Amino acid sequence: MVTDTLSRRFAEQFRETCARIGRNVRRGTGAIARTRELREQSKQNRDIRLRLLIAVKLRTGRLPDASAAELYGAPGIGGLCDACRRPLAQTQLVMSIPWPRRKSFAHLHADCFIIWNAVRPKQSKPANGHTAS
Ligand SMILES: [Zn+2]
Repeated sequence: MVTDTLSRRFAEQFRETCARIGRNVRRGTGAIARTRELREQSKQNRDIRLRLLIAVKLRTGRLPDASAAELYGAPGIGGLCDACRRPLAQTQLVMSIPWPRRKSFAHLHADCFIIWNAVRPKQSKPANGHTAS
């Protein structure tokens, strides 16, 4: 009799514990999904801000608007990205774009370069006189 009561109590506690674990797992899964969603939104917002910043810099001559037939990419060696003004770390790929007007190169993070290349006017002649897209 006592054993039956204890068994029923344990069985009930076991079911309650399983239900609680299930609820917590579902809550955790939902939180992970929301975190991923927020992270993706944050990346999209950052890309939009960067796109606008690069467009303004192109319009005001603070970035070159022409690409070259050959581009150079290498790990960062310090300094700041000409697009986003964040540091160019050794662990990041940095693209060097000829900047004839300044007789120099613009240095961009690879991600900034991709956006720059998408935003820049495509009719511009490349720095070396060859056609590039
Ligand atoms: Zn950058």
